[in-house]
Amino acid sequence: MSIAPTADRAYFAAFLDLKGKPGILVGGGPVAALKAETLLRSGVRVTVVAPELCPRLTELTLLGTVRHEARRFQAGDLVGAEIAISATDDVAVNEAVAAAARALRIPVNVADDPARSSFIMPSVVDRPPVQIAISTAGASPVLARKLRMLIETAVPHAFGRLAALAARFRADSRRRYPEPEARRRFWEEVVDGPVADLVFSGAELAAAQQLQESLAGQADAMPVAGFVSLVGAGPGNPELLTLRALRVMQSANVVLYDHLVAPALVDLARRDAERMYVGKEKDRHALGQDEINALMVRLAREGKRVVRLKGGDPFIFGRGGEEIEALAAQGVAFEVVPGVTAAAGAAAYAGIPLTHRDYAQSCVFATGHLKDGSAQLDWDALARPKQTVAIYMGVGGLEKICAGLIAHGLSPELPAALVEKATWPEQRVIEGTLATLPGLAVKAAVKPPALLIAGEVVRLRARLGWYGGERAQLASHATHEA
Ligand code: SAH
Repeated sequence: MSIAPTADRAYFAAFLDLKGKPGILVGGGPVAALKAETLLRSGVRVTVVAPELCPRLTELTLLGTVRHEARRFQAGDLVGAEIAISATDDVAVNEAVAAAARALRIPVNVADDPARSSFIMPSVVDRPPVQIAISTAGASPVLARKLRMLIETAVPHAFGRLAALAARFRADSRRRYPEPEARRRFWEEVVDGPVADLVFSGAELAAAQQLQESLAGQADAMPVAGFVSLVGAGPGNPELLTLRALRVMQSANVVLYDHLVAPALVDLARRDAERMYVGKEKDRHALGQDEINALMVRLAREGKRVVRLKGGDPFIFGRGGEEIEALAAQGVAFEVVPGVTAAAGAAAYAGIPLTHRDYAQSCVFATGHLKDGSAQLDWDALARPKQTVAIYMGVGGLEKICAGLIAHGLSPELPAALVEKATWPEQRVIEGTLATLPGLAVKAAVKPPALLIAGEVVRLRARLGWYGGERAQLASHATHEA
């Protein structure tokens, strides 16, 4: 059976080891500078041949990392070189470099000129020592860039660190598992298991230790060690999830979530992951905090990868601290993945910058959940000029909160807004003043989750509101009527 090239211009993909080898770069402009940097990153000893250099190349010569021949290219320049790149805007020079390189059988690349090149330079996603090279065979550099962006976001940086760790234990793994199939299974468990989790959470020392122990041990299975990711799911819109949050959800065995987490978010978990509702809504069956803590410890001890999904950010009015204290006390490995907190989500999606040079130099987050119905807030800290106040869990106590702020010195005319279900498709913004907002909220039948934002910055919404235009207009009509 014969094998034919798969496209008009099929390339042989390879990675060249050019560490310490001499390379010639012809051209002194910004394009040449980029090529010089790529060559330098691979350890090539670069000589630049060009009458003049751009600032970046000048800098590199001053640093002593590239050598400069300040003149025009001559065919003899390539003798002894192992790679040549021409990046000038003079076709005759480029052709001369290409011809000289062909005669000497030196690999040559001419910038933006695949026809004169014997190799092309791929777009590279770097996760040292991992390199992912992309080529469209010159068909579309823009497409190559797009692919690169997709891969950049899909491949965590920690992959490189995991590969570096694997490299350190390669010889050991050969001794322990001489049989290739067993060795492959071992490494599969490493890259998909707790060792990788440890690397991803920055605990490389612990990861190395675990790898060493499992290679030294007699049993051929890795010890099962679970892991808990305490994850901030953001205010509801799945687009606002972090890459890390998405990744851990897609490798989770169990996802524990509470009522503030949108169903669309829970759906992003790996298909076969068990989903458990533990949320704290009063009228649905839910677990107490101690029970949630105990459940996480038990699941982790069973070797599960547990994702504890919480609304917003886990460390802002989310009791995340208490949950991981329990894990820490029991010696369960965990990580914390921050999320977009409701105040940030509501502010962005309502068009209300929380700070602004003219209106607010500070911003406070407070909880309006009033124990025993009386406000135990630090009113003096909240009622300050040029400050934005964001109050979580403030729907129930809205009237008392607004009255308290006025009583402690803020103007009844101070603009204030309630953002209900911020970032969700059904987001509503009720806008008024400290004096009018409680009445407007009752009229609009605002329900939790909603966030109160009070401050001069609320005025900016008239110009900066961008999300769900129609609803914004309806809500502001309500304000004018009042
Ligand atoms: N850890 C969460 C806050 C939990 S407290 C965070 O960082 O966002 C619950 C309160 O958060 C709600 O009462 C409400 O005030 C606010 N909240 C959460 N999600 C919200 C949303 N989508 N829109 C408006 N407020 C929200």
